[in-house]
Amino acid sequence: MNLTDPIYTDADKAREHLEAIQWPNGPVCPHCGNVDRATIAKVEGKKKSHRDGLYYCNACAGQFTVTVGTVFESSHVPLNKWVLASHLMAASKKGISSHQLSRMLGVSYKTAWFMSHRIREAMAVDPKSRGPMGGEGKTVEMDETYYGPKDDQTPRTTKNKSTAHPKKPGYLKRTVMALVERGGEVRSFHVESANVETVKEVLFRNADRRSTLYTDQAQFYKQPGKDFDAHRSVNHSKDEWVRHEGDKVVHTNTIENVFSVFKRGMTGVYQHCGEAHLHRYLAEFDFRYNRRSKLGVEDTERTVMLLEAIRGKRLTYRRIGEAAH
Ligand SMILES: [Zn+2]
Repeated sequence: MNLTDPIYTDADKAREHLEAIQWPNGPVCPHCGNVDRATIAKVEGKKKSHRDGLYYCNACAGQFTVTVGTVFESSHVPLNKWVLASHLMAASKKGISSHQLSRMLGVSYKTAWFMSHRIREAMAVDPKSRGPMGGEGKTVEMDETYYGPKDDQTPRTTKNKSTAHPKKPGYLKRTVMALVERGGEVRSFHVESANVETVKEVLFRNADRRSTLYTDQAQFYKQPGKDFDAHRSVNHSKDEWVRHEGDKVVHTNTIENVFSVFKRGMTGVYQHCGEAHLHRYLAEFDFRYNRRSKLGVEDTERTVMLLEAIRGKRLTYRRIGEAAH
């Protein structure tokens, strides 16, 4: 990226950039959906006039700018800083801390924190909008990992045993479960604990049962795995990491690499993450992985994809401020 690009330094240029991404065929009224250019006019103001990016819709008599209905709406932060923050978050493989963003953007830590959470909201995918992963002849790897202490350290049932830190018995960690299709996308989830029920919930909702499923030897994968075309596991406790079965290579290295990037980001960059926000950080890492350079997506294009996704998320991001951080 070139930091001297006007879209990062000039609010008007940033707005034009955003308009080109959001409205490739001309302005769209967010109030009534009107796209008829003849009935949408730029509002001429007193001073900055055309530079405000304000439009008037004749169809519904409403006014709007390109940020109405997006996670950038109602913000006093100049748009060039939003565009820059979006680029930094889209391009940093392990994420970027709010302290770092604050310094680079010249905004307060609190503002940087809110901006990064709004951008994470844009990165999140509506579960209803996506189809099943895998399918006939496809391989899906599933694994679980533990990150950070749970807020509630009271063990409730024996099911919680799986969330105990192996070296600190009784110390309950947050559980993350994820599925990855080889050569495809990842989906990560924060779950209460790893057990047959949560495995079923994540697996059956997200993976096509005609897939081949690869996991480790954990008990909770065995029963749900029976519903799949084939289920193979490697026994890590017996130091088995890769097994060849004919033309099949059984391993869970793909998902373990995903977890490795996530953990390096969470310990090295973010350090502190409230349990209530964990799913947002998972969405951030999933967003980048699913648009990784191995799939032919480079930083600039990944940022454009992010700036496309800022719309239609505002109902959920409003909750962010309510949860403690
Ligand atoms: Zn309208």
